[in-house]
This record gives sequence, structure tokens and C-alpha cells, in this order.
Amino acid sequence: MAIMTSSTTFQPVLERIAEEIERTPGRGRPADYIPALAARDPRRFGMAVADLDGTVYGVGDWREPFSAQSLTKVFTLALDLAREGDALWEHVGREPSGNPFNSLVQLEYENGIPRNPFINAGALVVTDRLHTRTGDASGELLSFLRTESGNPDLTFDEEVAASESAHGDRNAALGHFMASYGNIDNPVPTLLDQYFRQCSVTVSCADLALATSFLARHGIRADGTRLLTRSQAKQINAIMLTCGTYDAAGDFAYRVGLPGKSGVGGGIIAVVPGRCTLCVWSPGLDERGNSVAGVAALDRFTTLTGLSVF
Ligand code: GLU
Repeated sequence: MAIMTSSTTFQPVLERIAEEIERTPGRGRPADYIPALAARDPRRFGMAVADLDGTVYGVGDWREPFSAQSLTKVFTLALDLAREGDALWEHVGREPSGNPFNSLVQLEYENGIPRNPFINAGALVVTDRLHTRTGDASGELLSFLRTESGNPDLTFDEEVAASESAHGDRNAALGHFMASYGNIDNPVPTLLDQYFRQCSVTVSCADLALATSFLARHGIRADGTRLLTRSQAKQINAIMLTCGTYDAAGDFAYRVGLPGKSGVGGGIIAVVPGRCTLCVWSPGLDERGNSVAGVAALDRFTTLTGLSVF
């Protein structure tokens, strides 16, 4: 198998992966705990790779908008870390949780400090802190995604946000519980409104591959300005590797070997530091909440190209 050089186009490998995925039976099931997501067809599949210079290669439904959900947690973490630096880590940890993404159990043992920024409790803390610093966490996120993707049409899906709010008892419980430990600054209903809007952002693989590029560029945004220090970009990549794919991060690292973050909308973003970023989407999930075809496609990508962090 040819190992890719920096001048290789990604198009042939993407087409090969899409053909393989097309022949694979069994795609998992779309998330149904947010009713607005349940109707997506699990046979849909798209994948995009963005080079550091902004060239995007894609295959299948790579321009199809889907619900970003937890993928947004990477961006709110970056936006908050850029503002407050290490003080954030007094409020949220950096260890895998070993529990489902919306679990309440660990929070009580650990005094309202969530294990990491990618489980829901940790993401709520990050959004709360970003909201305190900006006055509009979800607006800040949307503006960042629009700028980095070059797509000014990105927007929230109000139907998805309302659907999640109507079924949001678990997230509300997490918010109130952490507030009782003094780890939430804003009124919990305000925080939940921000968080549900954040999760509802509708994006395509092309948008997200581009918007994630700052992590492959060691903290540098599309316009050449610095969002994060090189060290902070490394930190976020490391947390993605260890905590980014729910309670399957070990298996994801084993199969794919890249920092990655998944969302229940069926998207996964992944980073090859110093080389490129990827986004894959297919709405059918496995029992741990990761896109079945998405993980398989990333597994094939790193196997076929030799591009991984290991
Ligand atoms: N909005 C979803 C929730 O909080 C995000 C979950 C996810 O994508 O992991 O339940």
C-alpha cells in the first residue's frame, strides 16, 4: 500500500473508501433520544479531507448538512481555553470517564467537577464559562464555524434545539447538579438554552473538515492568526484522542489512531496534526454512540494512507 506524501491528492483514497463502505452491510441506528434526529437514513455517507492550505476533497454526501451535536464541544473548548487558559482545568478534568456521555453517577463522587470537556457535564461547564466570557457562547461558536469554514450560511436548527430542549431532562439534571456545587455561573435555563442551540448547528463534512483545521495547524486559524498556543492545540488533540469518542475512545485509538470527536448526529471529526483534517458523516450509530460507517471509514483511511499519530 502506498504511503501518502504531502503532495498526494486524497480523492482516490476517498473514492475507494466510499466504495468499500457502500458494500458493507449493517450501519447501526440513528439516535432516537432526540426525536428530530431519528428520521435520518443510516445508508447516507459522506467524507471530506481538508489539506492545511484549505483544499477540500470529498466523496458521497460530503456537502449534505447534518446536526453537529457533540462535535461542537471541540470548538467551545478551544474558544474558552483561548480566553481563560489553564484556569479552566479547575472546573473540568482531563481524564476519560469510563461512563456514558450523559452519566450523573461520577459527578457526585467527584464534587461536581466533570471528568472531561467532552462528556455532557464537562461540555456544559465549558459552555457556561464561554457564555460568561462572551455573553453569547452559541453565537461565538457559530461565528467561529462560519469564518473557519468560509460558509456564512451555517446556522442553528431551531427544530432540533427545541426537540432536545423538550427531551432535555438529563442535561437539565446535570446542570442543576453542578450548580449545587458552585460549578455553574449562569442560570441553568440560560445555560441549557445556549447548549442546545450549540448542539443544533447544522454543518456538512466539508464545513467541519475546514473548521477543524486550526487543530492540524497547531492553533493557527484560516486567516493566519493564532487562536491557541501550540501547546493548547496539542492538549485538545490529546483530549480528543483519550475522551473524544464516548466510552469507546480506546477502541477508536486502536482502530483509527487519530484524535477524533464524534456526535450523535453521526458525524466524526479527526485530526492528522501538521497534515490534514477529516470529517465523516453517516447517521447510523453503534451501541456506544459512534457512527458505524464513520469509524469504519476512518479506520480504512489511516490504514490505506499510513497517516496516523502513531
Ligand atoms: N445534544 C446532545 C446531548 O446533549 C449531544 C450528545 C452528543 O452528540 O454526544 O445529549
